[in-house]
Amino acid sequence: MILDHEIKLDFSDVLIRPKRSTLESRSQVKLERVFKTLHGAEFSGVPIIAANMATGTFEMLDVFSQEKMFVAIAKHNNKKWLEIFSKENISLYPWGRMLNYGFYTIGMSDQELQELIQFKQHLIKIGYKYDIKICIDIANGYTQRFASFVSKVRKEFPENVIIAGNVATPEMVQELVIAGADYCKIGLGPGAMCSTRLKTGAGYPQISAAIECSDAAHGLGAGIVLDGGMRSPGDVAKAFVANSDMVMIGGMFSGTDEQEGDIVEKSFESNELEWDNGVYKKKTITKQYKVFYGMSSEYAQEKHMSGMKNYRTSEGRVEEVEYKGPVQNVIDDLLGGLRSAGTYIGANSIKNFGKCGTLIRVNRQHDRF
Ligand code: 5GP
Repeated sequence: MILDHEIKLDFSDVLIRPKRSTLESRSQVKLERVFKTLHGAEFSGVPIIAANMATGTFEMLDVFSQEKMFVAIAKHNNKKWLEIFSKENISLYPWGRMLNYGFYTIGMSDQELQELIQFKQHLIKIGYKYDIKICIDIANGYTQRFASFVSKVRKEFPENVIIAGNVATPEMVQELVIAGADYCKIGLGPGAMCSTRLKTGAGYPQISAAIECSDAAHGLGAGIVLDGGMRSPGDVAKAFVANSDMVMIGGMFSGTDEQEGDIVEKSFESNELEWDNGVYKKKTITKQYKVFYGMSSEYAQEKHMSGMKNYRTSEGRVEEVEYKGPVQNVIDDLLGGLRSAGTYIGANSIKNFGKCGTLIRVNRQHDRF
């Protein structure tokens, strides 16, 4: 056994050092950027992806794509790709926009790869120039089998954008890039609905993971998508300063109209008193919620994955999150925070956050809300 003494850092362990800047307004901070991938694809957008959880819906994609942001469609929604991209629907949907900003998610099974190939053939058949972006997502990307699977997907899709993960250390990033990934998805255990660290004791703090893994990926001409653990716009800004090329977020976009699932209403007796017919009574408050869950929770497995129960062990949680209304509110808050962060470090573009920013270690978790 070896004990690594270097302290690894998470979002709450660092802050962004403010610097002098010549920027005059937040509007000068450009959040859209161009990506040139290792395998020849070129695309542009705001480098934020909604996670392939209950947040990975086509309703989310419709809103996100208008903001030039991305959505990884959840695997259980994959059949809808074929429904939406049918000849009959050609005039109903802005196909180019949906394909530009949507990721088609698969796990590690040959059946899922076959379905993805069928979708590509379908697009060719109906005469659409395909540009599918692919997200290969499994809980633990540390197996040789996973790297071989990434190579297999790369052979079928030589130029398409491929994100693969999850891993959290540089040597595995290098292995996946050599196997064919353009971007490695980084995050072991940070997710809001994740219980991997509790159940297995394995994990890696996200800021250190981003710094170490981006160094490995960039050295090979690839990049990283930092996935999970961001609870506020400030955390997302820190992720970009730590050299993440993109981020993937679930929890912050949960509880919105575009997250799948119904709104449930609950009434509580509060501690506040109100005068009622000559007596003080405890006031009743009604709140609205949506159910949000980890993709490896038993809840998710029952709901979507009957017969695939070994997808992930039950390392996921289920929660009722407060209803937030349209996701546009969350997007506005997030993009506003990022632009403002740019002005604190003199970065006129999200691409320059890593170059312009410095992170400082703090010994106390700053106030979060
Ligand atoms: P969040 O932004 O909610 O903190 O993190 C989102 C990420 O959590 C997802 O993109 C995915 O990588 C991870 N995740 C989602 N569901 C589960 C789960 O059930 N278990 C674990 N270990 N991770 C999950």
